[in-house]
Amino acid sequence: MSEVSIKIICDNCGYELQESEKICPNCHSEQRRVFIQVCEKIHISCCQRLKAKNPQYPSDKKLRYDFIQGDVPSNITYNGRAKLKRIIDKDNDYYYEHVEDHKGNVIHHCEEPLSKHYNHGSAKKINDNSRKLD
Ligand SMILES: [Zn+2]
Repeated sequence: MSEVSIKIICDNCGYELQESEKICPNCHSEQRRVFIQVCEKIHISCCQRLKAKNPQYPSDKKLRYDFIQGDVPSNITYNGRAKLKRIIDKDNDYYYEHVEDHKGNVIHHCEEPLSKHYNHGSAKKINDNSRKLD
């Protein structure tokens, strides 16, 4: 999304002119100065997700491995984006979550057995985190 704004001012007195005004209504100067400002916002979002399912498990337990890595929205970083890497590996009882901002400052880091992660009741905390990141 790019925004273009044009500002024309009188070069003599600084009066802001309309595009149609060839002569400054304030000082009658014909010297105009035109400022063109182009503001470009580039929003690059890149997120990879890999899920591994084992159909032998009941439907709510089919998802055995969940890997997510990429650029996600965040309301706690300076630019509103954060880098997230999260691995949930049920078969190997492994949980990893790492969130950092684009300057490399670690916002959140967690690496522990998945069972411990859930037993600590921190799953709720993680849900809160992912809501922040959504
Ligand atoms: Zn003027």
